[in-house]
Amino acid sequence: MARSVLVLNSGSSSVKFQLVEPDSGRSLADGIVERIGEDSSLASLTAGSVEVSRSGRVADHEAALRVAFELLEEVGARPEDHGLAAVGHRVVHGGPDFYRPTLIDDALIARVCQLAPLAPLHNPPAILGVEVARRAMPDIPHVAVFDTAFFHDLPPAAATYAIDHEIAERWHIRRYGFHGTSHQYVSEQAAAFLGVAPESLSQIVLHLGNGASVSAIVGGRPVETSMGLTPMEGLVMGTRSGDVDPGIISYLWRTAGMSVEDIESMLNRRSGVRGLGGEIDFRVLHNRIESGDEAAQLAYDVYIHRLRKYIGAYLAILGSADVITFTAGVGENDAAVRRDALSGMTAFGIELDEHLNDSPARTARRISPDTAPTTVLVIPTNEELAIARACAQVLDA
Ligand code: ADP
Repeated sequence: MARSVLVLNSGSSSVKFQLVEPDSGRSLADGIVERIGEDSSLASLTAGSVEVSRSGRVADHEAALRVAFELLEEVGARPEDHGLAAVGHRVVHGGPDFYRPTLIDDALIARVCQLAPLAPLHNPPAILGVEVARRAMPDIPHVAVFDTAFFHDLPPAAATYAIDHEIAERWHIRRYGFHGTSHQYVSEQAAAFLGVAPESLSQIVLHLGNGASVSAIVGGRPVETSMGLTPMEGLVMGTRSGDVDPGIISYLWRTAGMSVEDIESMLNRRSGVRGLGGEIDFRVLHNRIESGDEAAQLAYDVYIHRLRKYIGAYLAILGSADVITFTAGVGENDAAVRRDALSGMTAFGIELDEHLNDSPARTARRISPDTAPTTVLVIPTNEELAIARACAQVLDA
């Protein structure tokens, strides 16, 4: 029987889960439990052409995992009947210590708990998910896969903030980068799509989902990425501001009477495209722009402006890019964002084929003309498969 890995991505109010065969790459079932702790919790699961869902209060993460198992059983995808070999946990921040997929033990949990201040929104729910899953499946190896791992060896010039060196050292302040599993997976897929070795390519990967980040990758190794100490730096995102003048923080604290928590919450949850345009979903944002909504237009313009600024900066770092790849919800689906991000860049060797760009295809594809010096691709990301494969490597080591 083929072995499987249960991949868990535990957020503060949701648990995403997927049962994956790492060796064939097949996803057996893919589900989510959302709005944990609310009366209107929702759980759904897709397995092939079968979809099941249920609503009603799911009190906490422990209950969420129970519901996940019930749904898996309902569609005939009980992990234990599919050679469950490991549980893979997405952990956002590995801090200075963790940069390889690592077997989870009590010491790892204790250390990741110590790292919580570096990722207050992300690491605590991930650890909660790990603890609940270890209790439910004590005899199965649990593996942590860190979002920061791929960027561990960023060149010092890219990883270092120009702040007081001693303070940075003492408090582990550096640019860690996030979405690493996706950037690594997509850059490898881009090379495979082109039929060349990753070592031969200079790439820019644009991961544009609710969270968004860019990376520049040379010869398979990242040389720059837009997120930093936390996943707040860089691009304008669904609800996060991305880059701001750090002076804004002290100004609001001193003058507007906002606490650090207020400011952090504002920058994380009430900024970005939603903060400016009142909407997080790009499909709705486009509809609003069509109907003349000026706030939506400004949100879109700021989003695109920042994206172009980063693409330009990364082209300067690379000299030129062999490949630019769009991925994640917006990057894979929004032809207008792709067009506006890259328009007017023929001087840099970058062109889009409008017909290819407008195609609603869902598979990996080229959207630049054959003759353009830079190949532009759309490649669906698959962080769950990448996590499952990382777990399999740990087991095989
Ligand atoms: P995350 O994993 O960071 O939560 P995703 O990668 O799933 O985010 O991206 C979600 C976002 O993708 C949605 O908020 C929406 O803006 C965008 N999106 C999804 N489908 C489409 C589409 N067909 N057209 C435009 N944008 C889309």
